[in-house]
Amino acid sequence: MDFDVIVIGAGAAGMFAASIAAQRGKKVALIEHRSSPGEKIRISGGGRCNFTNLHTSPENFLSDNPHFCKSALSRYTPADFLALMHRYGIGWHEKHKGQLFCNDSAEQIITLLRNECATGKVYWFMPCKVGSVSHSKCKFVLATEAGELHSAKLVIATGGLSIPKTGASDFGYRVAKRFDHEIIPTRAGLVPLTFDLSQWQPFSALSGLSLPVEVHTCSNASERGKRVSFYEDLLFTHRGLSGPAILQISSYWQNKGSLDINLLPSINLGRALIEKKKQSKSQLGTSLESYLPKSLVQLWLKQSALWEEASTRKIAELNDQLLRNLGSTFHRWSLTPSGSEGYRKAEVTVGGVDTRQISQQTMESSKLPGLYFVGEVLDVTGWLGGYNFQWAWASGFACGSSV
Ligand SMILES: Cc1cc2nc3c(=O)[nH]c(=O)nc-3n(C[C@H](O)[C@H](O)[C@H](O)COP(=O)(O)OP(=O)(O)OC[C@H]3O[C@@H](n4cnc5c(N)ncnc54)[C@H](O)[C@@H]3O)c2cc1C
Repeated sequence: MDFDVIVIGAGAAGMFAASIAAQRGKKVALIEHRSSPGEKIRISGGGRCNFTNLHTSPENFLSDNPHFCKSALSRYTPADFLALMHRYGIGWHEKHKGQLFCNDSAEQIITLLRNECATGKVYWFMPCKVGSVSHSKCKFVLATEAGELHSAKLVIATGGLSIPKTGASDFGYRVAKRFDHEIIPTRAGLVPLTFDLSQWQPFSALSGLSLPVEVHTCSNASERGKRVSFYEDLLFTHRGLSGPAILQISSYWQNKGSLDINLLPSINLGRALIEKKKQSKSQLGTSLESYLPKSLVQLWLKQSALWEEASTRKIAELNDQLLRNLGSTFHRWSLTPSGSEGYRKAEVTVGGVDTRQISQQTMESSKLPGLYFVGEVLDVTGWLGGYNFQWAWASGFACGSSV
């Protein structure tokens, strides 16, 4: 069977690239090894898919080659995807910081993509496994469960390694290596962080507690020594920390170094306690509870005999220096994760096919013309908040409209 274009992987980027190429009159085959497409779309955003972010800009992405994503992002914007949603009458709402979600269900986005593929008469091979990929005489030859498929162009849209049960595989990286592409080392991103059991034991009692924080990487813990910070919610878990603040910083944390967490970023706690001292007759513990959750305060004060003893004394009896010191411990909680929950729980894979060997206009390989990579398989990783789907649409569009 001969095609103009074969796309491997029917996720967000693959379905979008296939539909755009097919609607330009190309004969396109789309191969998916699961029995249904777009599993990550289906489970994303709690079933409502955070499908884009209104504030998308290149600064919201991690890559070894940070300028690479600019061209594609500027040629297919959140407004373009919203126009497509509008054509299908899919309702949406903004939740937080420009994050857009479907009003009803993520399934609506999968249906949209399938309809766009149907409009272009894309040929589906699903479920279908690909055995080998070779290239000779300007043609790709794929040995698949459905027989041998041939095409002039091959698009790899097999995504990253996170959540294996959604169909994730290392197929894209293997094809890239086979055709002499470099791979930027991969690691789990947007993932909860874990700590040594003994170090974490006291904090596991706080499991389920959530509060707004500001989290920073220390210079020894982030990419190229850059200090990065996020102001979001943090969630205590049995094994460590999660919540948007931690998921965001986890993409920058390179399996070493410490994180600084400001547990009360909205005020200067030391100064507030010294002010409070002037009119309050309450004990230190009670005073702290007006700023921070009770369970956190109680656990915190147990960490030092001095604070434990001070906690039952009236705040007015305590000296300013003690209050300042105690305040700064909440503002600068420094801790070193031992690892992360890994690909099993990660929303994305950081790293991937090195973009220095890919055209930023078309997503075509400079090593082997006719070979393309789109979506998460590339070394382009978005922050939490709809950026990863926007990258899937933008890179899929760049490829689909030129392949
Ligand atoms: C739980 C979860 C929630 C998320 N929520 C959001 C969100 O709300 N907003 C957001 O922007 N991002 C979110 N993401 C990230 C987002 O889902 C991905 O970045 C995005 O799906 C990447 O699109 P892709 O098409 O490149 O890859 P994928 O969507 O992973 O698609 C790859 C496809 O290729 C198929 N495939 C793999 N190997 C083969 C093979 N050998 N042969 C044939 N087919 C193969 C897979 O089965 C899959 O269908 C979430 C991720 C997870 C895991």
